[in-house]
Amino acid sequence: MNQSDRDILAAETDYRLSEFIRTRINPGTVERDTDAIPLDPSLLHEAARYGLFRHALNDEATRRYFDPLRWGLVLEELGYLCDDLAFPLLAYLCAGMGRRLHGTPAVEQLALTCQDRPLIGFAFTENRDALSMRGRLTRCGRTVRVATSKTIVAGALVLDGFVTYVPDEKGYVTAVLLHRSDPGVTIAPLQVTGFRAAGFGTLTALDTVVPIDRIVSNDGLAHAQQVLNGEAPFFVAGPLGRMRAIVEACARHVMTTERHGTALAEYPTVQGVLGQMCALLETSRATVHLALENYPADADAVWTTSLWMAKYTVAEAAPRLALLAQRLVGTNGFLHSDMYARHLRDFSGLLAGGNPQEKVQIDLGIDLLHRMRSSAHPDRNSR
Ligand SMILES: Cc1cc2nc3c(=O)[nH]c(=O)nc-3n(C[C@H](O)[C@H](O)[C@H](O)COP(=O)(O)OP(=O)(O)OC[C@H]3O[C@@H](n4cnc5c(N)ncnc54)[C@H](O)[C@@H]3O)c2cc1C
Repeated sequence: MNQSDRDILAAETDYRLSEFIRTRINPGTVERDTDAIPLDPSLLHEAARYGLFRHALNDEATRRYFDPLRWGLVLEELGYLCDDLAFPLLAYLCAGMGRRLHGTPAVEQLALTCQDRPLIGFAFTENRDALSMRGRLTRCGRTVRVATSKTIVAGALVLDGFVTYVPDEKGYVTAVLLHRSDPGVTIAPLQVTGFRAAGFGTLTALDTVVPIDRIVSNDGLAHAQQVLNGEAPFFVAGPLGRMRAIVEACARHVMTTERHGTALAEYPTVQGVLGQMCALLETSRATVHLALENYPADADAVWTTSLWMAKYTVAEAAPRLALLAQRLVGTNGFLHSDMYARHLRDFSGLLAGGNPQEKVQIDLGIDLLHRMRSSAHPDRNSR
């Protein structure tokens, strides 16, 4: 896709969604952030009616299919338009899970209890080693009994169901879909520093009995890794769009603010900071677009270098860019009513979210060594 195709897609996204975002998402952003008020899930259904998910999901009826590049670019534009980054976070999350569960008995089961297409989240983390998860899944005829406790789930307060990862009788982690209203399921709010309108919470299931069809995968560890790998560029695409919004806001600020009788934009120091911000933005963009263009055809892939490179690059660049913005806009960077401090908190969530940066960089290093070893020419190796 060349630049003009990208511009056309951005314009199309604006046409479909900008009025909705301007009137339904952006108002109340500061208040929701202050009081951690979750976005109403009906907003996701409403956005779906405006075509939000047209490139994100597979839909045989309309013959529209998942298009990773277009979906990533839509999310990027969404991040650019949305003052509240919780919205693109929830959108990418439930699109990714919805696509994976599409047509499975598990989600069809759940759909019976929901008015609209069910919105599904991901419940994996337990604040302990994934190789020694607590909880138990016990198969009893056509049902399974689930006991588990998950310590951080994005969208816990707003989504309908959650793919939950629980060890079975033999210790194999199994992925099972739980509905928020299943007997024994409890969801409690969790105070977080960023994306505060995304309804973060904890999820506990206490002897919850569900039909066996709710099992999504008997290899839950691989399933979770497929989700994390496949969703990595979509997780950061919204924040990437916001980085552009911040850079443009800073440029406008320095062009319209005078100090010592001179527009800030005339000072080389200010121009240099803007230049650093542009470099952070454009390297992030290039890495994300490359990842989207080379998105793996294999939905079961557990490691794709370019996808993690994209997550890693944006998660490093975005907090740095927000800090540079705070330097440029002076007091405004410190005000609760302005976006800069809020987005710095949002962007800090990219460090651990998906996979911690330190772990990703180790895996990127291992991947390079592996590729070098497997492609090394014996003569070149011995020199
Ligand atoms: C914005 C956000 C959204 C999230 N959404 C969800 C969600 O929807 N569902 C969900 O289940 N979880 C979610 N999480 C949790 C997230 O997936 C975990 O925080 C993340 O996987 C890190 O796990 P941890 O907190 O146990 O950190 P740890 O694994 O304890 O990491 C802490 C440090 O230890 C290092 N470390 C860990 N393992 C290794 C290793 N093998 N080798 C070297 N170093 C290592 C890390 O690099 C890091 O520096 C979310 C987190 C955030 C911030």
